[in-house]
Amino acid sequence: MSQRDLPWRRAADPYAVWVSEMMLQQTQVATVIPYYERWMARFPDVRALARAEEAEVLHAWQGLGYYRRARSLLSGARAVMERHAGVVPRGIDELLALPGVGPYTAGAIASIAYGLPEPVVDGNVIRVLSRLFCLTGDPTKAGPRRELWALAKALIPEEAPGDFNQALMELGATTCTPQTPRCTECPVRGHCLARRAGRELTLPALPPRAKVTHVTQAAALITRGEQVLVGRLAADAPRWSGMWQFPTVELTDAASARPRRGAVAEAGREGTAARGRSAARGRSAAREPRGDEGAPRALAAWVEAALGLEIEGLTAFTSLTHHVTRYRIRLEAYTCRAPRGAPRSAPPYAELRFVPKAALEALAMPKAQRALATRLIAARGAEGTLDDEPSGRTRAAPNGKPSGPKRTEGAERAPGSAQRKLSGRKRTQGAP
Ligand code: SF4
Repeated sequence: MSQRDLPWRRAADPYAVWVSEMMLQQTQVATVIPYYERWMARFPDVRALARAEEAEVLHAWQGLGYYRRARSLLSGARAVMERHAGVVPRGIDELLALPGVGPYTAGAIASIAYGLPEPVVDGNVIRVLSRLFCLTGDPTKAGPRRELWALAKALIPEEAPGDFNQALMELGATTCTPQTPRCTECPVRGHCLARRAGRELTLPALPPRAKVTHVTQAAALITRGEQVLVGRLAADAPRWSGMWQFPTVELTDAASARPRRGAVAEAGREGTAARGRSAARGRSAAREPRGDEGAPRALAAWVEAALGLEIEGLTAFTSLTHHVTRYRIRLEAYTCRAPRGAPRSAPPYAELRFVPKAALEALAMPKAQRALATRLIAARGAEGTLDDEPSGRTRAAPNGKPSGPKRTEGAERAPGSAQRKLSGRKRTQGAP
């Protein structure tokens, strides 16, 4: 089995190992490579990263998802500057004391960069060890998880432990894959107890997947001349804190908004009229938002009640579907105008601001919102209507099983939390 040529393997730089391992959590290798290369060009060492602003770091991470990882890297780099004079420590305890560094990342840095015999247990390693040793416990549970770490620790050689760890991870990523392990090509097939017992497809013994929950959101692309309204998510926002988005609301929440009656009626008429115009142009229902028929009314109501803005010309613009962990989110976007009045900042936004459309590029935005911004900029006018579904999804499906372009984005997951199934080329701390 040959090792893939990956940019972070070209030097045993602890900072590079740290960055790459953080990026690889929950994320496909192919997705990570360009992000890693851009990141290392922009923040080539701990010092450069520690000096960066959070907004800059989030912007560099935008589209990679699980943004807590980016913030952890930043706070970790600052801690390395303060406590270790800019040198990434080699001891496991010192590594574990850094913000955002868990046993997996600490083991990877210690073994790969410093050649210390420390184990690494990620989703790929869990899968390989569970099958090799026919371990039948649920690896998301504490007991079986401890057993796996102890086993990995017992196996680690004194010589070239980093190579050993990477070989195990590589075996899980390329050969001992979740759905179709290539046992006939596997270099350890003669030792594999699961294969001998015919259990390679049933191990590791994972709990049932969480059910997919369907959610519909509406985003308001509110323009004022050449400017558009965006909000920066507050530090306590449920996700994507510090990033920017167009005012967006879940339709179930928007439905409870209580604006003036006239605005709601007007928005409802305009939204309906927009759909009618679209259909009349032969664009068919496939180009129209297909969600709640009351979406325009609810959105207008929410904008007025929550943001204090009166809007006009509400028009269906585009829609897309993306996934955030177990949620399948249909995001319906509407353009409208707010000729007057100052927006009122309301949770989850720390601030709301009209910015020139051209300035959107410089803002860190979650991937689905970035897609809206790109479409808005590309549209001939703010009231343009684009095609409905984009050709690919912006997120991998829940439970780590990618569909369409193989990336996950969005909700942040605590390092080490369970994720049921992985693509063979994605690395997780949590589950095989
Ligand atoms: S023999 Fe098959 S199940 Fe066993 S470790 Fe190799 S690929 Fe995995």
